[in-house]
Amino acid sequence: MGGMFDPVHDGHLQLAQQVKQLCDLDEILLVPCGLPVHRPRAHTPSAARVAMLELACRGKEWLHVDPRECLSNGPSYTYTSLTAIRAGQRASIFHLLLGLDAFLSLPTWYRWLDLFDLAHIVVVARPGYELTQATLDPVLQLELEKRRVRCIEDCKDSAAGKILVLNVSTPAISSTEIRDMLRNQRDISQFLNKDVATYIRTHKLYQQRGVKFEIN
Ligand code: ATP
Ligand code: MG
Repeated sequence: MGGMFDPVHDGHLQLAQQVKQLCDLDEILLVPCGLPVHRPRAHTPSAARVAMLELACRGKEWLHVDPRECLSNGPSYTYTSLTAIRAGQRASIFHLLLGLDAFLSLPTWYRWLDLFDLAHIVVVARPGYELTQATLDPVLQLELEKRRVRCIEDCKDSAAGKILVLNVSTPAISSTEIRDMLRNQRDISQFLNKDVATYIRTHKLYQQRGVKFEIN
């Protein structure tokens, strides 16, 4: 599962937890984006985003941070990372986890159609986003019609290429809203892992508008 995780919040963690359970996955990798191609840069140094993710993973032996994109100087592409992750892991079946907003933006991603050769795609509903003809890019809609399966069992007879849409419920929160709340000195503890909230307070992160960092 990729993302900016700026910062990681309970929406991300619920997504991971529920997909792990429903799809019976062995482990989930959280892959923070280093240098995004399609969106503004992070508001915190990569090292801080990785550190917060590590805190959020503590005690969950099935949840790990993969910092490869943050350690690279080049732009972050899911296609490149997934290819490398596949090459380095013993697992034979991979699932790319996407919230619905990320899925809807898929046709803008580098080599997006080739992602179907690397993994199944599991899409999780996200409050505020809908999967309709009006929101779907026509090419993505064709892929969805061709590849959609109704349950995880239908993903098991092939190594990649299916799309499973899960209607799980996750908290209606985003990192953008959390950053705004922090700037306005509002309490964010209900949306974050408690160690992540402490890290943000200790390091005085997200206090100013518009402070951006490059890779580190
Ligand atoms: P930002 O507001 O900065 O874009 P975000 O909350 O959208 O942050 P990202 O790091 O952009 O978080 O998202 C990483 C992944 O997690 C994406 O696939 C996104 O769809 C998913 N995701 C984030 N928040 C939720 C949520 N509340 N429910 C379901 N999926 C979520
Ligand atoms: Mg987002």
